[in-house]
Amino acid sequence: MADDAEHRDESVREEGSGRDTEKDEIMYTKLKNGTCKLYELEKQLPPLDAIRIRRGYIEQETGTTLENLGIFSIEIERVVKRNCENMIGTVQVPVGVAGPLLVDGEYAHGSYYLPLATTEGALVASVNRGCSAITQAGGAQVRILHDGMTRAPVFAADNVVHAKQVADWVKEHRDDLRAAAESTTSHGKMTDVVTFIAGTSVFVRLEFDTKDAMGMNMVTIASAKVAELIEQGTGARLISLSGNMCTDKKPAVINGIMGRGKSVVAGIELSHDLISQIFKTDAKSLSEVNVRKNLVGSARAGSMGFNAHAANIVAAMFIACGQDPAHAIDGSTCITTVDLTDSGAYVSVTLPSLPVGTVGGGTGLETQQECLRILGVAGGGNPPGTNARKLGEIIGAGVLAGEISLLGALAAQHLARAHKQLGRG
Ligand code: NAP
Repeated sequence: MADDAEHRDESVREEGSGRDTEKDEIMYTKLKNGTCKLYELEKQLPPLDAIRIRRGYIEQETGTTLENLGIFSIEIERVVKRNCENMIGTVQVPVGVAGPLLVDGEYAHGSYYLPLATTEGALVASVNRGCSAITQAGGAQVRILHDGMTRAPVFAADNVVHAKQVADWVKEHRDDLRAAAESTTSHGKMTDVVTFIAGTSVFVRLEFDTKDAMGMNMVTIASAKVAELIEQGTGARLISLSGNMCTDKKPAVINGIMGRGKSVVAGIELSHDLISQIFKTDAKSLSEVNVRKNLVGSARAGSMGFNAHAANIVAAMFIACGQDPAHAIDGSTCITTVDLTDSGAYVSVTLPSLPVGTVGGGTGLETQQECLRILGVAGGGNPPGTNARKLGEIIGAGVLAGEISLLGALAAQHLARAHKQLGRG
């Protein structure tokens, strides 16, 4: 066990809460005979003791020692209430930085170091190389094309005629629905409502500007209020608050077309000199790798991602910055393009569905907050919404860096092989 660990829950003893072996044994017995459930420990003990006992019980039950899971520095009072049930400790994920990365966005202006939480060797180095190319080329142009978090409850209508009536009612009562939705939140604004029908199922896709929150909880609460009104007004039965046309945490074409979270586009012009100097390749090879791999290959495979490895950067930044890691699924459906230009190549990435926030969820944990602070986006923005948009732009630029670097590496190998073959000929 590391001697320099900031905190291990033995500190419970140091802090005077007191580890009492006899009391511990009583708790283990209660857990064993079912008179206390694992999830009830926080009701009977302070959180640190509850975590330690639960971990000790799992050690006993599974015949393992979990000493490293018990080392952590985050404040867990709030975590056990808001972020994680049945907590037994934390997993440590190494965080590296790539950068500086020059970004020219509407919300992010300047140079940033990207915190990337990963166990994949070479990822940070690769993104770092892309950052260097972008920065030398004058900085990534980035824009947010659309911003809206969605929830789509599904209702059952009596028949298809009723289904159409429900959709019409929703359209006519848009202002009432907005008022009901916005009564549940001081930050969220309902920006759109679209209906879809499949037989007797009616999906009402509600969209919100959630400001600096990623917004899933916010919009779910607001949607519940809207759903009540729709049931009352139409007689349709609410079947599920999420009808999967949201679409949350599943790869879905609807998010690619209509957007979900931040829709981000980033691009950079790379000169012939820069491509040759940094990537040891040329613009034409870069473009051919992109067309044959990212576009043709992805189409042939039926992939929803037309990119090289956007998920790598999205997932690593999401984990570092306290985003919901399951949203790496939606966040990484990216299209990468390489346009040949007179002076070199213009490389772009389009991420239609990047759900990010700087308040709420996992963003409040101390280590994640520190990563957000590296980017200057911890907490609410002034005005609200600007921090989350800034984060979206920076992640977009980070994905661009990752794409450029991997395309460059692949193109260089292709070029090297071509030279070898030519040399032999
Ligand atoms: P949240 O922690 O539930 O709520 C964030 C709240 O912060 C907002 O509702 C808002 O309160 C308040 N707030 C303070 N300053 C703000 C600002 N500057 N901008 C916006 N809001 C501000 O977070 P969330 O983003 O709504 O939801 C994220 C969590 O949802 C994550 O933990 C994620 O894992 C989870 N999640 C939930 C679902 C679900 O179906 N419920 C699905 C996927 C993920 P007011 O609303 O009162 O203004």
